[in-house]
Amino acid sequence: MGIEEKRCFDRLSITGCRGSRVNIILLGPPGAGKGTQAERLVADRGMVQLSTGDMLRAEKNAGTDLGNRIKAVMESGALVSDEIVSSLIDENLARLDAGQGVIFDGYPRTAAQVETLDGLLAAHGRKLERVIELAVDEDSLVARIVGRYTCARCGAGYHDTFRQPRVAGTCDVCGSHEFKRRADDNEETVRTRMAEYRAKTEPIIPIYDARGILRRVDGMADIDRVSAAIAAILDGR
Ligand SMILES: [Zn+2]
Repeated sequence: MGIEEKRCFDRLSITGCRGSRVNIILLGPPGAGKGTQAERLVADRGMVQLSTGDMLRAEKNAGTDLGNRIKAVMESGALVSDEIVSSLIDENLARLDAGQGVIFDGYPRTAAQVETLDGLLAAHGRKLERVIELAVDEDSLVARIVGRYTCARCGAGYHDTFRQPRVAGTCDVCGSHEFKRRADDNEETVRTRMAEYRAKTEPIIPIYDARGILRRVDGMADIDRVSAAIAAILDGR
């Protein structure tokens, strides 16, 4: 019994298994909730997330021949070549159970890589079924990120606009009066990250749109609604 079948059997669930073999690219700027959605797809559907950054780090730490090449390139300050990234994806695809769907994250970023990915997937009897973009409104995203802060003692999350403590300046959970904000939760950083995201997706979005496999989900909706929208897409509803 494969991993996916076993998972489905254990959960006695049909809906949790549908669409599990689907291979997708998940796109979204930092703060859009891409990480949370990917985690849910991994937990609920047994999908595997292939993030370029994670794969590079894992291979480097594994100390394989390829890992040592990656280490040398990274230490020299150069960018890891397309050829190395392709080898990495190829190896990771080879390790998967045939029933496991894949979530690509951080790849592809160029038209050439789009073609390479098609070839790699085909070599493993797979194809890319959907490209899902968590669409955000930049100003709303900035407001969402810039306003957030946490209790310095217990970590409870708050927001200047959307979730203030019931008593001003006092944590609802632990009563602490000290709060903190992340240094990179400022407007300039968020806008810079948005610009980087756009630059990275601009080359590939039109290609997938033209193929008819691009789907946009409202990334500003609450987490459960976003998950439901993604599920509907994967299940072909
Ligand atoms: Zn607290």
